[in-house]
Amino acid sequence: MMDYPLTLPHILERAGRYFPKAQIVSRLPDKSLHRTTYREFHRRAKALAESLCKAGLKKGDRVATLMWNHYAHHEAYFGIPAAGGVLHTLNLRLHPNDLEYIVNNAGDRFLIVDDVLLPVLEQFRSRANFERVFVVNHSGARLPAGLEDYNDLLATATGEFAYPRIEEREASGMCYTSGTTGRPRGVVYSHRSTVLHSYNCVLASSMHIAASDVVVPVVPMFHANAWGIPYATTMMGASLVFPGPYLDGESLLNLFESENVTLSAGVPTVWLAVLQLLEREPTRWKLAKGLRLAVGGSAAPESMIRAFDRLGITVLHAWGMTETSPVATVATLKPEMERLSADERYAYRAKQGYAMPFVEMRVVSDDGKEVASDGKAMGEIQVRGPYITGKYFGMEPTPDKFTADGWLRTGDVATIDEEGYIRITDRTKDLIKSGGEWISSVDLENAIMGHPAVAEAAVIAIPDPKWDERPLAVIVLKEGARASAGDINRFLEGKFAKWWLPDEYVFAESIPRTSTGKFLKSALRETYGKRGAGAAAKSKVG
Ligand code: ADP
Repeated sequence: MMDYPLTLPHILERAGRYFPKAQIVSRLPDKSLHRTTYREFHRRAKALAESLCKAGLKKGDRVATLMWNHYAHHEAYFGIPAAGGVLHTLNLRLHPNDLEYIVNNAGDRFLIVDDVLLPVLEQFRSRANFERVFVVNHSGARLPAGLEDYNDLLATATGEFAYPRIEEREASGMCYTSGTTGRPRGVVYSHRSTVLHSYNCVLASSMHIAASDVVVPVVPMFHANAWGIPYATTMMGASLVFPGPYLDGESLLNLFESENVTLSAGVPTVWLAVLQLLEREPTRWKLAKGLRLAVGGSAAPESMIRAFDRLGITVLHAWGMTETSPVATVATLKPEMERLSADERYAYRAKQGYAMPFVEMRVVSDDGKEVASDGKAMGEIQVRGPYITGKYFGMEPTPDKFTADGWLRTGDVATIDEEGYIRITDRTKDLIKSGGEWISSVDLENAIMGHPAVAEAAVIAIPDPKWDERPLAVIVLKEGARASAGDINRFLEGKFAKWWLPDEYVFAESIPRTSTGKFLKSALRETYGKRGAGAAAKSKVG
């Protein structure tokens, strides 16, 4: 066979050649819808590659983006790697000190930024070393001194451009972990890893992306490459719809309706909000039956999967992390499982699924041995494969992150069953250690979110003099709904061993989120972690 490299310019050229009419729709900051085609995308992404080369970009140079999800970010996804550069997506929700650390650690040379995000940039720009900053000027207003218009950069291209020769193992992109569990660390993706990951995303046993799809990545393009969806969708020539800065349920549902969306992806908190709207006014929304929602980033509660099913919407539960490109497992059913009872099928779909092709996975206990595949024994998930990171940017592999035999330690605790489906019970640091035994905060949360009055729930460990740690549940009720601590406790009885049930229930207005939309448990631990603090708001049980 020919030694032909797996690189991103191939996908860009293919999109322009075979799918010039495919649509790209973006919600802009002023809420208007911007419409373009793959023909224009191909021209502009290539112009970006050419103009970056003209601006002096060298192989492996990092170009940062500080942008919402829209057509120009999509251009950057392809134009930067096609120039031999490395697309470095910045999480716009991070603290300026973290952004400063990240851009300096990565050594970013250029930056492309949305005009509406200039206030974010201004908070750390003087502490960063960008040579040039290009602004996607949605409003057309005059730019502050020292900043250049992104379209002016593109205008320097002649259209006569040959891609530099790129080897498939060269870097194409980079993303920092969002620092939920410590200082952000850089993960560098290669052309090869990105292409292989794209193949896995489009498989029928995965997100099943075809040219006929209309795909909305709600997951931000700075969050693990929007789970690879922009690359996979472009590879298949499917239409893309970008939500811009509007990620609330109402805006998303309007977009799904007007653009006849068939597939979307995002974290559970996004879909819990969407579900509340749909359940409140079921007849208001005319969504096509068969809409698929890829859900990951945190566990998708079984109750949510069931509720969407009742509305004709299919949840696809997937697991991964920035380090795994990210999609590593998907919970699609095997054919014989279709014959199981509804309860059994839901139990499988609420697990995180089994490993994608070329992702190797094992679940290892503290003693370093693989746990039994019985769906009960818990251990740490360890993975390896061609799109799993082998080290962090600028750091040698350390034993807490990589095993001596070369597997990534994910820090996720899970069970694995005889079919190979994993079920995440926790992150190591979120597990509740009570009397020497582990309690899964995720299991408790998912069960509580199955109560009809509950919109959201997060469970944390609080220190306990006798048991070491005990669970505390923070609960947000649905609008107008009522339930007491005793009601919730009764609801959980029979589902769990008695010693698993939370000692305390706190009813809150909202649960704080991380920069990627997950429940921010560190903040909850700070607020509720010390017994006695805010005791008035708590309801003790038993
Ligand atoms: P961060 O570490 O900041 O959360 P990532 O987006 O890389 O950033 O998060 C990866 C982590 O998210 C995983 O290690 C796991 O703990 C969690 N996660 C991802 N998908 C799921 C899922 N389907 N169910 C439970 N947890 C998940």
